[in-house]
Amino acid sequence: MKLAKEHEHLKDFRRDLFFKLGALLSQEYDLLVLEDLDVRNLVQKGENKKRRMRLYDSSFSELRAVLEWEFRKREKLVLPVPAYNTSRECFLCGRINQSLTLEDRVFHCPHCGFILDRDLNASLVLLKRAGWVPPAVA
Ligand SMILES: [Zn+2]
Repeated sequence: MKLAKEHEHLKDFRRDLFFKLGALLSQEYDLLVLEDLDVRNLVQKGENKKRRMRLYDSSFSELRAVLEWEFRKREKLVLPVPAYNTSRECFLCGRINQSLTLEDRVFHCPHCGFILDRDLNASLVLLKRAGWVPPAVA
């Protein structure tokens, strides 16, 4: 009973955090671009049990639903884009870095030499897929 209560408390706490985050982001930004991940597939394909449980526990689908709800409530745009190869695609040249592993925190493009933080590169790839055209660099 005590453990069940703790779980319930944790669930409420997390949901409350998601709503606060959603409100904050949707007030600040006009567009939410997100990876259209198949969460169930990710959870099942997890490399080991620990990772699988972590993915499951992070409640991706609940977070996404709350964020989408907050953005739409304020009549702002939500744009899910294909998640395929987001981390492995080079933002600059668009080619795929096949040798990138989960442990690599920095993206090094073997084709054009582009180097950037892995998550930042993936975020830029998502923006590009959403239709954003980067300003030309002089
Ligand atoms: Zn490249």
